Amino acid sequence: MTDDLISYINSLGVSRYGFFDAGKVIPDNWKGLGFGISFSIKLSEPIVRDIKNGPTKTYFSHYRSVNNHINEVALKLTIYLQNMGHKAVPIPASQTVSEGNEIKGVFQHRTAATLSGLGWIGKSGMFIDEKLGPAVRLGTVFTDMELTPQVPVRKGKCGSCRLCVQSCPAMAIEGKEWKAGMERNLLYDARACSSYMKEAYKDIGRGVVCGICMSICPRNDS
Ligand code: SF4
Ligand code: SF4
Repeated sequence: MTDDLISYINSLGVSRYGFFDAGKVIPDNWKGLGFGISFSIKLSEPIVRDIKNGPTKTYFSHYRSVNNHINEVALKLTIYLQNMGHKAVPIPASQTVSEGNEIKGVFQHRTAATLSGLGWIGKSGMFIDEKLGPAVRLGTVFTDMELTPQVPVRKGKCGSCRLCVQSCPAMAIEGKEWKAGMERNLLYDARACSSYMKEAYKDIGRGVVCGICMSICPRNDS
């Protein structure tokens, strides 16, 4: 069964994937879905390199296309799992639900990706894929199909690098090394990042992308 699932995932056009134990992180309303699939799609390297001092219109278009692809992959996986008699929930690629002062998605894809052993969280709060670097976008599907989880990654590997801290125009990045379970707001101020993007890049996708911290990260060359 798992071999069939793996063949199917590979046929969907993902860059990397992993399985995780969702028992401790699944939202209360979906208890019973004890496992998850995390997958990544690598962004176009030349488009990411062009970001330099701010996002380009081509980057925004690419970002949206990749998000659409992630949603499609997650939906196809959900249908596949359901057809095999399982329950499944696809998490939207990019959806913001505000909770009080916090800006976040219904579930953080980066948490799923670290639990799946795909990589770690950088000082910037970005997910950094061990093999592909930070220029990836992530998708997540929860399921009750029993999967063999990978070994989670539990700490960051930025070391002495502070390039994103120095380059962020919103001064939103604190510069702390990530450890599993750390609150996101200890790494960076999502509200400061969002406010800056909305004002500075309002002519590019109404200010929902920036990408500077991703583009300058030396892990792009890893
Ligand atoms: S996306 Fe831009 S504004 Fe937000 S943290 Fe990264 S560099 Fe700063
Ligand atoms: S730029 Fe440096 S400090 Fe920032 S996430 Fe990348 S490796 Fe870590």
